[in-house]
Amino acid sequence: MTDALTKMLSERDWVMADGATGTNLFNMGLSSGDAPELWNADEPQNIKKLYSLAVDAGSDLFLTNTFGGNASRLKLHNAESRVRELNRLGAALGREVADASGRTVIVAGSVGPTGEIMAPMGSLTHELAVEMFHEQAEGLKEGGADVLWLETISAPEEYKAAAEAFALAGMPWCGTMSFDTAGRTMMGVTSASMVDMVEALPNPPIAFGANCGVGASDLMRTVLGFIASGTERPVIAKGNAGIPKYVDGHIHYDGTPELMGAYACLARDAGARIIGGCCGTMPEHLKAMRAALESTPKGPRPTLEDIAVKLGGFSSASDGTGDQSDAPARSRRNSRRRT
Ligand SMILES: [Zn+2]
Repeated sequence: MTDALTKMLSERDWVMADGATGTNLFNMGLSSGDAPELWNADEPQNIKKLYSLAVDAGSDLFLTNTFGGNASRLKLHNAESRVRELNRLGAALGREVADASGRTVIVAGSVGPTGEIMAPMGSLTHELAVEMFHEQAEGLKEGGADVLWLETISAPEEYKAAAEAFALAGMPWCGTMSFDTAGRTMMGVTSASMVDMVEALPNPPIAFGANCGVGASDLMRTVLGFIASGTERPVIAKGNAGIPKYVDGHIHYDGTPELMGAYACLARDAGARIIGGCCGTMPEHLKAMRAALESTPKGPRPTLEDIAVKLGGFSSASDGTGDQSDAPARSRRNSRRRT
């Protein structure tokens, strides 16, 4: 039996994913200290609204409101005993919205980091991480998610633990990392080393890629790194709407819908198959992305210069690959690019 996402990818050149979750929920009144996952039980209408905003704006796939739905994160809200319930509800609400849309829309069960540092650097053991991700995966599966969606991961150990948990749940999955530190993840993973890690997994994801990070330009540079590896696995691009700026006490993303439309086409031309936004990506950005993808003919693979001209400059001199040591802090020193 072929899963819904694999089927969609076999029929389409690109699949449009969704945008921000947090930014949209804050607009609906969520307080910054609250656990968004509690709204799956307490404010289900708002969660259905969140999903509908993405579907109505043209997303073919949206992520469930379960990013922080693991025991470690929910413990901060004394809700660690509700992992299964909150994930099941988050996915079930998604199922309702997707099935009522009148077209095929994929419900992707969001799984974020535990927030803990894994052994050997930290105290979270592999076994415990697998157990936490497994519990969450079972809830998402029960709620009817089509696919599990690991995102914003920095540590390879955590990515591998989640992969193992998803195998235990018997679910297909996708997984992205956040390259926010001069082209690398906080734990030093480069685009090239992520490809190696993904291909070595016993149960590799349907698609892999990058989400969040710094701005859309940096994310595009990481995508070019994935493609340069020669991978045949579908690549995911979920970039922020512009660059985060601290304005009047909160984080603001300055990317316009037009900029995100240009980003979506660049991502497609670079070779990404699943294209969406991350922080700051609102429904108006998604509409512009969908319209741009549908109206702009596919172009040649963009160069770094094309990206800088259309989306703005990069936050660091290099993408972190090349002949450097493992220390991310050193990557600024060396501007050699991977070709
Ligand atoms: Zn983000």
